[in-house]
Amino acid sequence: MARKNLIVGNWKMNATHLEAIQMTQKLHYRLDPKDFDRVDVGIAPPFTSLRSVQTVIEADHMRILLAAQNVHWEESGAFTGEIAPGMLEKLFVRYVIVGHSERRQLFGETDEVVNRKVKAVLAHGMTPIMCVGETLDEREAGLATERVGSQVPASLRGLTAEQVAGLVVAYEPIWAIGTGRTAAPEDAQEMVGFIRDTLRQGWGGAADETRILYGGSVNPGNIAALMAKKDIDGGLVGGASLDPDKFAAIVRYWV
Ligand code: PEP
Repeated sequence: MARKNLIVGNWKMNATHLEAIQMTQKLHYRLDPKDFDRVDVGIAPPFTSLRSVQTVIEADHMRILLAAQNVHWEESGAFTGEIAPGMLEKLFVRYVIVGHSERRQLFGETDEVVNRKVKAVLAHGMTPIMCVGETLDEREAGLATERVGSQVPASLRGLTAEQVAGLVVAYEPIWAIGTGRTAAPEDAQEMVGFIRDTLRQGWGGAADETRILYGGSVNPGNIAALMAKKDIDGGLVGGASLDPDKFAAIVRYWV
C-alpha cells in the first residue's frame, strides 16, 4: 500500500487560542483541495488551543488534521497538570506527538514512558507520531545508529504488526531541531532507511507501511530535497510551522 505523505506543524509552547484560530484560518486559505489529496496536513497547537482549533476546523469543513503535542498514559486520576488520552480523543485529535526530544531531554521521558504513551494513544484510536533522534555528541562519536536503533524497539515494545503499520515515526536529530541546521537529505535518508530496517526486523512487512517523517529545521527551501528521498514520507516542522505562509509553502513543496 502506498504511503501518503504527512506534514505536521508542531507549534510547541506558542500561540494563545485566539492566535491559534487565526493561524489555522490563514493556513486553510493558503491550501487547496489538491494539496490535501496529496499530503495529509496536521497542526499540533498547545492543549489550551485544541478545542478552539477543532471548532474552527469542524465549522469550516477544513481537511486540516488536529494533533496534540503530548499525552499521559493513564485514563484519569491524580496526575495534576496532565491530559488523558480520552480527553484528546473526544476533541477529534488524530495524531499525538509522543517522545519529542524536548520531552525526552527537558522532562525526563524515557523509552519506557514513551512506550506507555504510544500504547495509550493507540488504545484510543489515535495515531502516535513517535519521535527518535540522536544528540550531536552521539552523531560525532559515530553512535547515531546505535542510539536510534535502541530507541525504536524500546519505544514500540509490545505493538502488533498492524499497529506498527499504522504508526508514524519521526526521525529528528536533536542537533537539527530549532538550530537552522538541517540534516543533509542523504544523511536523513540513511537514518530513516535504517529506522525502516529496524522496524522490519521486529514487525516484518508492516515496516513498509509505517510513515516515517524527518524533522529538524525544515523550511520551504529544503523540504523538496528531503521529500525526494525514498523512505522519507513527510516532515515534522517546528519553527517554520508558526508562519502560515511558510508552512503552506512546505506543504506545497511539490508545486
Ligand atoms: C520540532 O520541534 O519537531 C522541530 C523539528 O523543530 P524545528 O523545525 O524548529 O527544528
